[in-house]
Formats: sequence, structure tokens, C-alpha cells
Amino acid sequence: MRLRELRKIADQHGLALIEDCAHALGATYEGRSVGLIGDYGIFSFQAIKHMTTVDGGLLTISDPSQLDAAKRFRWFGMRKGVPRTEVDISSIGYKYNMNNVTATIGLAQLSHINSLVQRHIDNGRFFDAVFSKTIGVDFARCDTSGASSYWLYTLLSNHSRELEQLLIGNGVSASKLHRPNNLHSIFESASIDLPGLNAFYGRLLHIPCGWWVDEAQRQQIAELIQRG
Ligand SMILES: *Cc1c(COP(=O)(O)O)cnc(C)c1O
Repeated sequence: MRLRELRKIADQHGLALIEDCAHALGATYEGRSVGLIGDYGIFSFQAIKHMTTVDGGLLTISDPSQLDAAKRFRWFGMRKGVPRTEVDISSIGYKYNMNNVTATIGLAQLSHINSLVQRHIDNGRFFDAVFSKTIGVDFARCDTSGASSYWLYTLLSNHSRELEQLLIGNGVSASKLHRPNNLHSIFESASIDLPGLNAFYGRLLHIPCGWWVDEAQRQQIAELIQRG
């Protein structure tokens, strides 16, 4: 995430910089939370993220004068609290609002979200330390200015398939997770060779490092990979 460089390019060309922080809650860049470097940051609170409101998310905006427009965009172009018969819709809006039930689920997590994110970070750093000394295994590294919040742990190995089988056989939910967009048939007509992405995809394997992985489990995962 070379955000500093992206910020510079955006400033040079008068472009808005949007940070996809979907699974980066708790990550920092140059000591500040991600989402604060761009003009906008978007975090996901979907069911499987660090913090969840079952679905929904959070938008950060650097220019406070845009808040009102963002609120109207979120809800049919209307301001909440203004009677419907008096409201004047002057811009496009959608139904992107969060409801009170999901908001309550999110609010209840605020008291302990830091410790949950910290468990991800502790597990991630544990794996970094182990795999930096394991021959044949590497991991996705971030820019030295950034600190990951390790939503999932991304291993890189020439034997990712065999490792995946070994881990699954031992009850660890390892997977490649997604298929790259360039491999889907809907994009077939625009398909081009992406050698760097194909090589990266071939080597990657995601392993769990979330708050539910305890010290014994992370040790077991590390030993399985070292053995494999
Ligand atoms: C989860 C995720 C999304 C999707 O988030 P939604 O809240 O479901 O829209 C988008 N981008 C990345 C990188 C994600 O991890």
C-alpha cells in the first residue's frame, strides 16, 4: 500500500484518492489510521470482517463540508429529520443507509474491538516471525511505512496446493479465497495475460490469523507449514 506515492499522484492530477479499507480496520500508515490519507476511506462491517454489523460499513471523508452531501446520497437524496412533504431532493441518492439494529450490533463491539484487532495483529506477527525463518515459505509484505491489521494471513509458497491440502486435512481452513477477476468468463473478451498476478495467485495461500486462533492453534498451524 504505497499510499504516500498514490497521494502525490492524486494531488498532481487533481484526483480524489479513495482508500479501500474494507478489511483494514486497525491498520496504520505512517502512524495514522488508514482511511485518513485519502480523500475518502471505506471500511466494511460485513459479517466476516474484524468488526461486523452483519452488513454495512463506514465512510470516512477528509473534507467535512462534504458530510451533508454524503448523508443525502445515502438516503434517496433526502435529509433525515426534514418532513417528507417539505423535503427538496436536489441530488441523486440511494438506499445505502444502515438500520438501527445493525448499528446497535456495531456499537456493542466498540468496547472490545481494540483487543480483537490486537489478537489478529499478534497472530500475524507471530506468523511473520516464524515464516521469515522457514525455507520455502514467504508471505505478503507491506510497505515499511504501514502496519497491517492482518485480517487474513497471506502465505506465499511454490507448493501452495500441497500446503492447502495438508492444512485442510488437519482441520485448518486454508484457501486461496478468491479467483482473480481475469480468470472469470465474464471478462473473457477483455482477457490479457497478467503474468505477475498469475504467478502471485499460484503461490498464495490464506491461513486464519483472527481473534479466534489461540496460541496453541497458531503453533500447530506453524508446525504443519514447517513440516510441509
Ligand atoms: C470485504 C471486502 C469488500 C466488500 O465489502 P462489503 O462491505 O461487502 O461491500 C471489498 N473489498 C475488500 C478488499 C474486502 O475485503
